[in-house]
Amino acid sequence: MNEAFAWESVLHRDPSADDHILYGVKTTGIYCRPSCPSRRPKRDNVAFFSSSEAAERAGFRACQRCRPNRAKSENRAVARARAYIDSHVADLSEERITLERLGEQAGLSPYHLQRKFKELVGLTPAQYIRARKSERLKDELKRGETVSRATFGAGYGSSSRVYDDASARLGMTPATYRRGGAGTQIDYVIADTSLGTLLVGATDRGVCAVTLGDSAESLEAALEGEYPAAALKRVAASTSALGVWVEEIVDSIDGQRARPDVPIDVQASAFQWKVWRELQKIPFGETRSYGEIANAIGSPKAVRAVASACANNRVAVVIPCHRVVRQSGSLGGYRWGVARKEQLLAKERAMREQSTS
Ligand SMILES: [Zn+2]
Repeated sequence: MNEAFAWESVLHRDPSADDHILYGVKTTGIYCRPSCPSRRPKRDNVAFFSSSEAAERAGFRACQRCRPNRAKSENRAVARARAYIDSHVADLSEERITLERLGEQAGLSPYHLQRKFKELVGLTPAQYIRARKSERLKDELKRGETVSRATFGAGYGSSSRVYDDASARLGMTPATYRRGGAGTQIDYVIADTSLGTLLVGATDRGVCAVTLGDSAESLEAALEGEYPAAALKRVAASTSALGVWVEEIVDSIDGQRARPDVPIDVQASAFQWKVWRELQKIPFGETRSYGEIANAIGSPKAVRAVASACANNRVAVVIPCHRVVRQSGSLGGYRWGVARKEQLLAKERAMREQSTS
């Protein structure tokens, strides 16, 4: 095995290496896949293996988070779920393919399927379904079908969904957001983090609220204030599909992950999106000034508007508004408390130094 390459895969949490590279950590006695979200070990403490059998022969135990000893059957399970989507994506006009249904087909819990599918396919099942539907839609439009027939043929319940999906980003429609989320189901998870209590709320299309505070009650009240007409339901991270996203967000807060890879479902102006997308480009462990962001989006005079777009961010960490500071070097504001901003930045710097030293 080329150990330099293997170590690179570990440093980059490269899921494409998961099937042929495993690493054991001598200090803990545990072995992992490269994509494991756990903290990166020191190079000196790592031994590489090409199979879980080899790792276990050398005395290592399988990690409970990335389950490196389960690879083969899970790969087959994901393949079954994918085949099910491929063969059903055309005939679903109203009925939706749920994660529960896919889990039954695959023989995995919805939580594990979601996680494993994302790891192997690169998309969540919901994203994969959307991608397959829009591919089919394009095919049918090319063949000259009318739009309404094409939308039904592609498995969309109504033609309005097409326009949602056609836009590059996801987003609650402006009308729904204005009506306080009426007709929208928002599930949310409360979790403890090193920065206090975390609330992650999501529609079936992505996260719509990621907030930090001192108590579950205050965060729940704020969620209700933002979406007074939505159906809100608290769920447990371990049993819901949302659990995977929560885990990525918690890892980011703890400075173990550069950016949580979760879809976003919030309504915002085109200008706000422009600013937020720019924030997502700021490298882990670095900061930019409000003025630098204004320049980067081609509106050098809009410094104040940039600051207000940052202040209006509703998904902490997912859109890393904490990486924007004042020109003077002072921290500037943070919706969830300046102390938390300071801690987030300190963790990111520390993690970055660790990984480059
Ligand atoms: Zn692991």
